[in-house]
Amino acid sequence: MDHPLWESCGFGENTIADRLRLIELDQEGMEASGRKLHDHIIAPNVDAIVDRFYGSLLRIDEFNRIVDGPSTAASLRESQKRYLLGLGIDFHTREYFENRLQIGSVHQRVGVPQSLYQCAFHRLQSLLIEYIPPAIRDDGPAFAELLRFILKITALDMSLAVESYCSGKVSDLTKSLETERDETVRLRQLAVTDWLTNLRNHSYSKRCLGAALERTKTEMSPLCVIMADLDHFKEINDAHGHLVGDKILQIAARRMLSGARADDEICRYGGEEFLFILHKTNITEGEEVAERVRTHINSDAMNSHDAQLMVTISLGVAQARDGDTVDALIERADRALYAAKRAGRDCVRLA
Ligand code: GH3
Ligand code: MG
Ligand code: MG
Repeated sequence: MDHPLWESCGFGENTIADRLRLIELDQEGMEASGRKLHDHIIAPNVDAIVDRFYGSLLRIDEFNRIVDGPSTAASLRESQKRYLLGLGIDFHTREYFENRLQIGSVHQRVGVPQSLYQCAFHRLQSLLIEYIPPAIRDDGPAFAELLRFILKITALDMSLAVESYCSGKVSDLTKSLETERDETVRLRQLAVTDWLTNLRNHSYSKRCLGAALERTKTEMSPLCVIMADLDHFKEINDAHGHLVGDKILQIAARRMLSGARADDEICRYGGEEFLFILHKTNITEGEEVAERVRTHINSDAMNSHDAQLMVTISLGVAQARDGDTVDALIERADRALYAAKRAGRDCVRLA
């Protein structure tokens, strides 16, 4: 069986023995004191103790906010009664410990403030002491022994409940931190993504190219860019409407991805213009990528809202030179692109 609380509280094989030693519940006669507590104090008075315990809690606003109706109050009293009847019995067992951990965890989940929780323990201590019967009260050593036991057993329960209470809080915080982190990743992703095509967006393309140019200086590796532009795209919009045009842009983006290599970065630079950043790529390899992208685009008709359209793309390739700036490199790729347009479109030109 799984015991998540046991583990989340960092409990292990020696926890029970260590804890009992710490609270001095490992001494001779403690089991007998537990019986005495049960037989002479709790069993005969359990309803009165529960009544008075809840009577004092119900005077606290914070507690009233948590207990939102008579049915909650009744079920709380029932579990408090069960709890009391088990108090101090078989406290050296794992079951006893786990039970107490469960209680702290439940209280944390329903939002009982920790301070209220600790004060309630103190109230319970006082009530138990109050109900020590006169026969024991008059017997000095027996009274002292039972008193010590009540303090120890409530300290044990409180230590366990607070432990699982805190571990529940930590786990809540960890979860909310994880949600926050996922959200940050999502927003960061969103900030660099083009909403229509899911490719990288314009501002990312500039930053990415700037960084890539910097790297070429230290790594001495080649870098290429491709500027690509869909041909006669305005005609598609004019003839079929913008929705069809949008769909064509999405299909074209997917085909570009399939034509390019895994490490190539493809950005939507403007309306129907795309900038490819090809790391560690010389002009010959860049031309190959451009040619493959071109043939992926014009390979088949693109289906969009009942329209079947043959689409082509023109591409200009440029390789980075020493001292290049982002704008200078893009400018050369742009000129190559316009050379491709002038050459009749659906082709690749090199800068
Ligand atoms: P060329 O072959 O010379 O590139 O011709 P073209 O028609 O593709 O070029 P032009 O620059 O004349 O027209 C580009 C068109 O792209 C015009 C504009 O309405 C359209 N466009 C830009 N962004 C979007 C978009 O997000 N969705 C749609 N549907 N159309 C867009
Ligand atoms: Mg165009
Ligand atoms: Mg254009």
